[in-house]
Amino acid sequence: MLPVSTRATNTWSNWGGTASCTPERIIAPQSTDELAAAVREAADRGRTVKPVGAGHSFSEVAVAPDVQIAMSGFAGVRHVDREAGRVTLGAGTHLHQIPDILEPLGLAMTNLGDVDRQTVSGATATGTHGTGVAFGGISTQIRGVTLVDGTGTVRTVAEDDPDLAAAALGLGALGVLTEITLQCVDAFAIEAVEAPGDAEETFAGFLDAVASTDHYEFYWFPHTTRVLTKSNTRLPADTPASGPGSVRRYIDDELLSNKFFGALCALSARVPGVVPTINQVSGRALSARTYTDRSDRIFISDRGVRFREMEYALPLEAVPDALRELRAMIDRRRHRVSFPVEVRAAAADDLMLSTAAGRTSGYIAVHRYHRDDTGSARDYFRDVEQIMVAHGGRPHWGKMHTRDADYLRGVYPRFDEFLEVRGRFDPERTFANPYLTTTLGA
Ligand SMILES: Cc1cc2nc3c(=O)[nH]c(=O)nc-3n(C[C@H](O)[C@H](O)[C@H](O)COP(=O)(O)OP(=O)(O)OC[C@H]3O[C@@H](n4cnc5c(N)ncnc54)[C@H](O)[C@@H]3O)c2cc1C
Repeated sequence: MLPVSTRATNTWSNWGGTASCTPERIIAPQSTDELAAAVREAADRGRTVKPVGAGHSFSEVAVAPDVQIAMSGFAGVRHVDREAGRVTLGAGTHLHQIPDILEPLGLAMTNLGDVDRQTVSGATATGTHGTGVAFGGISTQIRGVTLVDGTGTVRTVAEDDPDLAAAALGLGALGVLTEITLQCVDAFAIEAVEAPGDAEETFAGFLDAVASTDHYEFYWFPHTTRVLTKSNTRLPADTPASGPGSVRRYIDDELLSNKFFGALCALSARVPGVVPTINQVSGRALSARTYTDRSDRIFISDRGVRFREMEYALPLEAVPDALRELRAMIDRRRHRVSFPVEVRAAAADDLMLSTAAGRTSGYIAVHRYHRDDTGSARDYFRDVEQIMVAHGGRPHWGKMHTRDADYLRGVYPRFDEFLEVRGRFDPERTFANPYLTTTLGA
């Protein structure tokens, strides 16, 4: 008997409060055999199946109308190949569990996004990325997967299998992944340099900055000329940790960045007119700081204030102009935006549905406070999306957007190849949901 949810209600909602559903069933298989049986049983009843990770996608990609699969039974290490620097993990392993697995092996993940609450399967299914023009998204670290396909058959997709270019970033549309093999690198430290700067200078210097820095990103505070840049340099693993002590970091990260910022966002949502003043204050409060630590501790931040987010990948060289258009649009349309705009970059890769497929990419992310579900927040996302689309932008699969298959086919050269793989892995669309029907077209 499969463990079934013991929750009082089956209602599920995501971290940002932007997607929810009430699955007919929630199950947590403890083995691949149990999972395969559950997929076959649902398919026989004509029901759909959707695995869910940590619910950190803002889009409706993880919504499970019929059977929701919790991946808690698939966490932890399955196999280590220290020689090759490869680790096979249960697909439900959370990113925050991985550094402690890798540290004793002298290994690390070569790049990460901003947070580590996601599962490795959920993060890679939607193309989660960090920053650095020499570094691809997390899915590019995958060297093989095992999954249960739509017929309930267990398939292993190895490194030399052309289907890996689909399965490593598959939106959950090809099957339920049970194991993921990651290519790791030797452990390393990072020195982070954070510095306030001028917005126009930073926009203009973006292409040079990403070319000359291992991992570069910046935050621009709308309604101001202020930015905060963050330049990360990779260093040998034995570089001692240094920088602000734990009390100062608590004040900066927890009190100022999370608690104080959260209070300001709540105020801004009620009184939008104060936003420009608040952003001026927030932008000026930022001071330069330099610190060094184990790589994952530098990549990862705590996001205590909940928000909703849209992010588009653009051809890298389009980023400065798109930012200027965004700034002009915010002024022209009189939007009141309390969250900084985040700007990052990633290397081109050859995964079929990667937002960086075939082109070096810049990422522009915009946010609104999670309780700010007003018409003005929706109008802001719509106006931003128009700018991004005009630059041939590709929306992050796990973040808010309104694109459909017709548009996406035009910006993903390998879109139809992905559909061909889906036709073989899930011929009856057992893993469908409304989001996938809109974005993949069937
Ligand atoms: C605070 C916050 C910070 C974020 N920072 C970043 C960032 O820095 N960079 C970035 O690119 N994104 C970022 N994101 C987006 C996030 O990384 C992605 O949306 C990611 O998909 C969430 O992972 P999850 O485990 O929560 O998966 P979920 O959102 O639960 O699911 C995502 C998809 O994965 C599928 N899936 C889950 N498990 C499996 C499985 N075993 N087999 C097959 N499919 C599966 C689901 O069906 C669904 O389609 C952030 C999100 C939040 C809320």
